Order: sequence, then C-alpha cells, then structure tokens
Amino acid sequence: MFVGTCVAAGARGKMPPLVFPVVGSVTYGDDFGDPRGGVRHEGNDILAAKRAPVVAVEDGTVEYWTQSASAGCMLYLHGASGTSYQYIHLNNDRTAANDNEGKCVRGTAYAVADGARVTAGQQIGYVGDSGDANGIHPHLHFEVHPNGKRAVDPFPYLRKASRLLAPAPSAGRMFTLKLSGTVATATADELTMVADTVSAWPSHVKQSKLGALVSLTLTDGETFAPGEQIVAWTEPAPGTVEALTGAPGALELDHFSNG
Ligand SMILES: [Zn+2]
Repeated sequence: MFVGTCVAAGARGKMPPLVFPVVGSVTYGDDFGDPRGGVRHEGNDILAAKRAPVVAVEDGTVEYWTQSASAGCMLYLHGASGTSYQYIHLNNDRTAANDNEGKCVRGTAYAVADGARVTAGQQIGYVGDSGDANGIHPHLHFEVHPNGKRAVDPFPYLRKASRLLAPAPSAGRMFTLKLSGTVATATADELTMVADTVSAWPSHVKQSKLGALVSLTLTDGETFAPGEQIVAWTEPAPGTVEALTGAPGALELDHFSNG
C-alpha cells in the first residue's frame, strides 16, 4: 500500500526499471571502474553479434554524437526520467567484414533519426566496433548518467533489466512472434512455453538457444500437454515491455503446429 504523496511514473530523477539495451545473445560483466589505458572505464561492455539490435532502455529522445574518435558512432538517449544513457561503438561497417566504410548514419550506426522520440524497447542502433573498439569483438559500451551527471555502474541495472524477445515496433504499431519450444504448463486459458527460438515481425529479428519462458493466452479451447514440442504464432500485439517479454496475460496464441 502507498502512503503519502504519489509520485508520477517517469518523474524526473527516478530511474524506471530498464529494458536491456541489446536484443539477442550477450556476454558482459561488471567492468565499471576498471583501468583502461590510464582512464577508468565509465560503463559496461556488452559483447554481442555485429549489428545486433540496440534498443532504448527507457522512453526518451535520441541524440547522435559523432565527434569523438574514441567513441566512434555514439548516441545519447535522454531518458524521460532525466537519466541519460550513452551508447558507444555502434556499427560503422557496410559489409559483414570490418571495412569501416560506413558512416555514423541511420541504417548503419543508428536505427532512428537524430532527435527521434522513442519508446522503451524500440531499436535505436546496431552493435558494432567503431572508434577505439575497431577490430575487437563488436560490443556496446553502455553508460548510465543519473540526472545527466557523473556515470554510475550500469551493472545492477542491467542485471535487473527486461530481456526482450524482439525489439519494440515503432509507436502505435503491432508485432507478432513465431516461437518454437516446449510446453511447460497449460491450463484451459493459458499456455506457458520454454521458447528456444523466436522470429519477430516487423523487425525480422531472430534469436536461438533462448530458453525464455513465454506465456500465451488461449481463447480457442486448445489443449496442450507439458513436454509437447510446438511452434506457436502470436496474435498481433502492441509493443509493451510485458508483451515483448512474454509476461503472463500480454500475448495471445493465434495458431500453432506440433513441431
Ligand atoms: Zn567500454
């Protein structure tokens, strides 16, 4: 129960629960403050596949930053909460090779226009190796600056962040998923499955070896048995964090096959 003054969600100065900034398989640790060539590391490095979707961790406004040789293609997400986030070493390659032929432009480094207002989970960029990450494993260097001030360790926020099945569609649009996996539990009106692979539209993002628990609401009297292998397609859903994580009640089964 709440006592005292109500604080509006997204009020300045209070960070909301974050969406994880990369969709797909990642490796990261708590490397904040580590010595790096005479300076201290101001963020966490999130290793991911080249061009993996980079998404907004909360609602906010994107600002391109292309003036730092060490950061390479970078963006600021000015969060609605007042916290600003730095996304560094975005993609600068035009081909699958490390060609450095791409510029810090939309379609190469960024997924939205400079100044775009975005919602949590919306794709804003692509993982890469620009700046002084050139030639090493593609990764997102991610920083958290509460109230736009000095950096704090992102690690505890990343650990608690929602890992998305797919990037959010642009505002007002819907998305669908194709999920392959195993039925965990089933009742008359809800199926829970462990999804091993997921394909998403309209983003065309695919993930495999997921092991994500996804809930699907049943409305047509389908019956499932635990352990059953299925391929499930979801009804179009709005891009809420609940739907993008397969939280209970957020996604509805459209149709399925035994697979
Ligand atoms: Zn870094």
